[in-house]
Amino acid sequence: MAVAASLDEKIEPIYREVIRRNPGEVEFHQAVREVLESIGPVLVKHPEFAEHRIIERICEPERQIIFRVPWEDDEGNVQINRGFRVEFNSALGPYKGGLRFHPSVYLGIVKFLGFEQIFKNALTGMPIGGAKGGADFDPKGRSDGETMRFCQSFMTELYRHLGEYTDVPAGDIGVGTREIGFLFGQYKRITNRYESAVLTGKGLDWGGARVRNEATGYGLVYFVGEMLAASGTSFDGRTGVVSGSGNVALHAIEKMHALGGRVVACSDSDGYVLDEAGLDVELLKEIKTVERGRVSDYADLRPRARFAPAGNIWHVPCEVALPCATQNELTGNDAARLVANGCIAVGEGANMPTTPEGVRVFLDAGVAFGPGKAANAGGVATSALEMQQNASRDSWTFEHTELRLAEIMRDIHHRCYETAAEYGKPGNYVAGANISGFIKVAAAMVALGLI
Ligand code: GLU
Repeated sequence: MAVAASLDEKIEPIYREVIRRNPGEVEFHQAVREVLESIGPVLVKHPEFAEHRIIERICEPERQIIFRVPWEDDEGNVQINRGFRVEFNSALGPYKGGLRFHPSVYLGIVKFLGFEQIFKNALTGMPIGGAKGGADFDPKGRSDGETMRFCQSFMTELYRHLGEYTDVPAGDIGVGTREIGFLFGQYKRITNRYESAVLTGKGLDWGGARVRNEATGYGLVYFVGEMLAASGTSFDGRTGVVSGSGNVALHAIEKMHALGGRVVACSDSDGYVLDEAGLDVELLKEIKTVERGRVSDYADLRPRARFAPAGNIWHVPCEVALPCATQNELTGNDAARLVANGCIAVGEGANMPTTPEGVRVFLDAGVAFGPGKAANAGGVATSALEMQQNASRDSWTFEHTELRLAEIMRDIHHRCYETAAEYGKPGNYVAGANISGFIKVAAAMVALGLI
């Protein structure tokens, strides 16, 4: 089994202090460790970062908000959830990052997501700080009315912390256009302001941007395409496996097909569906977004496909693996299996889907590994394009916006690739992304003084 990388001796005590100050928040510890493992060499080139205690400051959120969200279900019962917004870092711009509605949400998950968001947003080159939020609300099986009442109650508390120059949430797991609509409606009602740029991921008829819905999945495939090109190859004729079947997964499948690949499997929490001839993405979209159904429905409708209940999707042989479901879904053993089956590239569409052991296996095997904070940054980058369009009261075409997205993903790849080489780790996109994102935020923090 792969051994975890060690921390620089100056950084080790900082990490220990993060654990002590944030007990039990294991996902947050994991996300911090992953960044800190990369930045030892940065302190050698930039001693001023240590002098200003930038690492310690970056690991402490600027503001953490936790609130009660009471609402009434369709039976008239009072329900209570817990809402969160962690405004992590605003050195580069207003806080920016999604909201996650899922029963697993607690402070440790929101902090891991918010911490990653700082560096992801920095990598996009856009003027946005890092934040994340959400609630332990389970949208599964809830009616439109229940979801609306929940969103209204959530926003009634959160609105006072938001603003187009302050904090701009968007979606994440469990939060799509419908939820953003309810949230925006309540914000507008309370503030009496049509402040479009206070939320992104809006519907196209009321201030949303074209491509935002597709952006994370498309951007992921562009990024992986750049990694493949850097090693002299492409998607052409390659087999892919994509975990998940939400917004990110569906658009990743669609774009990989458009670029000549063939995705044979995707999944949900019940299992995976395998279609050797290539998944019919239109049918999947119909099942998942129109019917709000399960991937097993696909196998019922396509006799050539097979549904594997509780099956491990990473056992399906492929050359390109795109984990697009959730954190820690791809373990060290899964990674070893993928490598043994001939996988050459991995792009993280979800946030932190690969465990540290998994990452090590891929890096040791020389697999092109695109970490989430670089590979899935197309979503938030397109959110920044949405803010740009809102600010100028403009609306761009699909083609123009997609070109901008492709350009941004190319730039992110370039930045990670060049930084990795500069710091003596050629081809290591984990190091490249962490170092490049960190330096950008750290330099801004030094420039802004002790705040
Ligand atoms: N939740 C997405 C992410 O993980 C998008 C955030 C946004 O658009 O603000 O980056």
